[in-house]
Amino acid sequence: MTIDNFNFAGKKAFVRVDFNVPLDENFNITDDTRMRAALPTLKKILADGGSIIIGSHLGRPKGATDKFSLKHIIGHLSDLLGVEVQFANDCMGEEAALKAAALQPGEVLMLENLRFYAEEEGKPRGLAEDATDEEKAAAKAAVKESQKEFTKKLASYADCYVNDAFGTAHRAHASTALIAKYFDKDHKMFGFLMEKEVAAVDKVLKDIKRPFTAIMGGSKVSSKIEIIENLLNKVDNLILTGGMTYTFVKAQGGNIGNSIVENDKLDLALEIIAKAKEKGVNLVLAVDDKIADKFANDANTKYCPVNNVPEGWMGMDIGPESMAIFTKVILESKTILWNGPTGVFEFDTFSTGSRVVGEAIGEATGNGAFSLVGGGDSVACVNKFGLADNVSYVSTGGGALLEAIEGKILPGIAAINE
Ligand code: AMP
Repeated sequence: MTIDNFNFAGKKAFVRVDFNVPLDENFNITDDTRMRAALPTLKKILADGGSIIIGSHLGRPKGATDKFSLKHIIGHLSDLLGVEVQFANDCMGEEAALKAAALQPGEVLMLENLRFYAEEEGKPRGLAEDATDEEKAAAKAAVKESQKEFTKKLASYADCYVNDAFGTAHRAHASTALIAKYFDKDHKMFGFLMEKEVAAVDKVLKDIKRPFTAIMGGSKVSSKIEIIENLLNKVDNLILTGGMTYTFVKAQGGNIGNSIVENDKLDLALEIIAKAKEKGVNLVLAVDDKIADKFANDANTKYCPVNNVPEGWMGMDIGPESMAIFTKVILESKTILWNGPTGVFEFDTFSTGSRVVGEAIGEATGNGAFSLVGGGDSVACVNKFGLADNVSYVSTGGGALLEAIEGKILPGIAAINE
């Protein structure tokens, strides 16, 4: 079933969203992108005359805590929807069931954080540090068993299931995947956001216009190794940038001063270089960088060749020559994937490289390329530089997006398609 074709009139929909929004110390939402991203789905259901039970997680709670309560976002959600959203302060229990049952067309009920229950993720909690393997296995089996009841209960609130939480689609959790079993094919579907995300991923996986360039930045090569290896089979150009640069430079015998490095990944870096050569992929690394004498926005700075960083200095962003090289590659591309900044973009002094890359992607997109930006930090970059409208698609998924591009089947997607 597709959301466009489903008439929600008189129906109760359980909608799994990703409202895992950042909150400041006073519980003000500092970025509501994820909430706004789910609005088309929620509004369509209400416009049809349906009612909604919203399920989400917030943070990584280890049990019920005020800090991770979704009650903090109810006011803003009500404003965004133009409907007074009701709240059940426990996603299980009598109250949630009664409130769900009493929902009238046009009404919305938000459930408390699903992850207050270990059953949502299906992972045991509170295990003693010295627990034996048998104890661990028993705890896991117990939570998997109680997860069935938990999932069934969530499903019992509604007539149909809508998954609009791309950010958690790579997790086989109760509300993101297992719940789908309780609805037949005609009563489960993706939300509009999920549909768009899946279509965007398909474009870089299946419908590739070449040259295809991936720009992978961020701090560490270790956290992105799988996707990098996978991309080597797909792309024409692979720009590896950000902190991981220095692992590559050191592996090739360069001097990196105090730059961030993963000393246990030097061999891996050399393997990646060799594999790129073998597969005919143009591996692009920075040639110069902007260095700092301390990790701070007000550090003293200068430019230097990337393989000659003086002792006591660290590489914090790419330099002008690298910017020119990256820009040229990007402007010649027809498909572009960007994940991760070129430097410590949170400090304005070291954000130029990321801005230049973002602008080049915007220009290439204006010339007809398809560009997909994903992962928390690159999204923060395009937002910081006001470039979100200049790229083809900004994904709300970090881990989910990368896993999808690695070609993995995401449980949240599979569960709807089954
Ligand atoms: P990741 O979470 O792996 O995508 O990495 C993003 C983080 O990498 C950002 O917070 C950047 O500040 C950081 N980063 C990028 N370049 C560097 C660098 N040269 N040195 C230290 N951190 C960096």
